[in-house]
Amino acid sequence: MTKRVFNFNPGPAVLPLEVLETAQSELLDFKGTGMSVMEISHRSKEFEGVIQTAEADLRELLGIPSNYKIMFLQGGASLQFAMLPMNLRATGASADYIVTGTWSKTAIKEAQKLGAARAAANTEKEGFKCLPASLDLDPNAAYLHFTSNETIHGVEFVSEPTPPAGVPLVCDTSSDFISRPLDVSKYAVLYAGAQKNAGPAGVTVVIMRDDMIERTPANLPVMLDYKTLAASGSLHNTPPAFSIYIVGLVFQWAKKLGGLAEIQKINRKKADAIYNAIDQSGGFYRGHAAPEARSVMNIPFRLPTEELEDTFAKEAKKNDLIGLKGHRSVGGMRASIYNAMTIEGAEALVQFMKEFQKKNG
Ligand code: PMP
Repeated sequence: MTKRVFNFNPGPAVLPLEVLETAQSELLDFKGTGMSVMEISHRSKEFEGVIQTAEADLRELLGIPSNYKIMFLQGGASLQFAMLPMNLRATGASADYIVTGTWSKTAIKEAQKLGAARAAANTEKEGFKCLPASLDLDPNAAYLHFTSNETIHGVEFVSEPTPPAGVPLVCDTSSDFISRPLDVSKYAVLYAGAQKNAGPAGVTVVIMRDDMIERTPANLPVMLDYKTLAASGSLHNTPPAFSIYIVGLVFQWAKKLGGLAEIQKINRKKADAIYNAIDQSGGFYRGHAAPEARSVMNIPFRLPTEELEDTFAKEAKKNDLIGLKGHRSVGGMRASIYNAMTIEGAEALVQFMKEFQKKNG
């Protein structure tokens, strides 16, 4: 019997069992080719089917209008931190960033290496626990960038910020991608490393409005050039075929679950169960984020002492609850409960938290 644990890792993260089983069943002979999907040509009609179906399914899931391109790129979300300003910010122009945690801080730093980028808000002084109370927006910014969910600090935007008229909105949605419905038409660019909600590491999904692609300047290195990458349908060079294939299976699984509205309901249920356990612990467990900014995907929380936190992680592991140690910059614990985490898994964690408190509280 194969043993599966409840995996609360922040990414790479849990994948739907059904997706893994499909991949397993197709591993040696992908659709009658007598080869695995890793062994076929990326120019074959079979792989064309994989990438085109993945794109069509994502369009359907998120309701992506036809004037947006979908790209499957390499280099992680981290490479997008550099590609975005290189492509979308003209020489001498400035871009705005909303800084709400480690990832948006990293994004603005990268943009500042290459030109002007200013913080329209920065909640670091408040310990990255909350959403900004107000924004100081540049009406001439090349774009406004924000991180819809800060994976480390567990701070998530309830809805997207509104940029000044004519300023395109750019979103790093790496850790809440396809976790809830959103209105794509409000965005100029959405991007996400796949390895949280959508699949394995190795592929980054970029959704970009056509007019943004036109901004790409001449003479960028080709692998950093959205215009070339979009025109080639993500096939300018050899793409990360296996990662794209798994991402495609995840999109199919998400559609079968009933789409993003249904997935959002399940995610809400899991998050509510864990936040309730925190709130009803009489202060034994303390959530990091302010209640109105709480992430539905990543739940960082502390215990009364670091010793108890170590014991919590060790005992949780013995109970097959894996990956709960928080990021060192926040400390404590973090439960990442992406789409593929089952309600059963969230409930097992809640049960463990209650028992742990009874023993140690
Ligand atoms: N943005 C966010 C919100 C993230 O959580 C991460 C990774 N944890 C990144 C960007 C960087 O992603 P990658 O490792 O794919 O470069």
